[in-house]
Amino acid sequence: MKTSHSNRRNFIINTGKAVMALGLSTTVIPSIANTFHENTSLLAEEKFKQLPLLYKFDSLQTAIDTQTMEIHYTKHAATYCKNLNDAYLAEVGNKNKSLEEILSAISKYSPKMRNNGGGHFNHEMFWQCMTPNVTTENKPSETLTKNLVKDFGSIEAFKTQFGEAAKSRFGSGWAWLVKSKDGKLIIGSTPNQDNPLMDICELKGLPILCLDVWEHAYYLRYQNKRADYIANWWKIVDWNFVEKKLG
Ligand code: MN
Repeated sequence: MKTSHSNRRNFIINTGKAVMALGLSTTVIPSIANTFHENTSLLAEEKFKQLPLLYKFDSLQTAIDTQTMEIHYTKHAATYCKNLNDAYLAEVGNKNKSLEEILSAISKYSPKMRNNGGGHFNHEMFWQCMTPNVTTENKPSETLTKNLVKDFGSIEAFKTQFGEAAKSRFGSGWAWLVKSKDGKLIIGSTPNQDNPLMDICELKGLPILCLDVWEHAYYLRYQNKRADYIANWWKIVDWNFVEKKLG
C-alpha cells in the first residue's frame, strides 16, 4: 500500500519544492508538470498545512504539559491535516475551494471531510487561542470586557457558562464562543470535530474562542479531571486573539 504511492507522493512533493526553490511557477513549466499524470495533485495534496506554532511545546505548562502539546500538534492535528488533504483531493479535486466554503456546505461531503476539515480548522484556531505571554491575572482588555459583560453580565458569568459548555459536552468535542449573525456573543459546544461554520451544526456563527475537550487534549496531566483542565486553561487564553477575532 505504502510503497509506490508514498514514493510518488514524495517525488511529487520534492519536485514541487525544487520548482519553488527555482522560483518558477508550475504554470510556466508544463513540460515538468506534464511528466506526472496527476500533476494537479501537486497543488491539491499540499493545499492545507499546519501553521507553525507561535510558541514552544513546553511554554504553556501553566495549563498544558509539554508532551500533550507535542503529541497533540505533531500527531493528532497533523493527521487531521493530512486526511483533509486526502479528502479534498478525492472530493474537490482540481477546483479551488477554501476550507470555510467546504465547512459551510459540509452536509454535501463525506464524513471523512467533516471530521478532518473540522479537525484541521478547529486545531489551527485552538493553537492561536493560547499564548505563553500572559500576566498572572490574564484578563481581557477593557473593550473585550465590555463586549463580554454586555452579553453575559460579567467576565465570571461568561467563564462559568463557557466552562459548563466544556464540561457538559459528553465524550469528545469542543466548547465555543461565537458571534452570531446579529452580532450577539453566544456560547455552545459541538461533538467530535464539528464546528459553528458547518451547515449541519446547531450552534452557528463566527468562532471567536474555542477549547478542545477531547481527552487527548488533557488526559496525560488531568486524567478524568476535565474541570481542572478548563480552570487552568483560562490562565493561557490569548485575549488579544479573541479581541481580534471579534473585530
Ligand atoms: Mn485535539
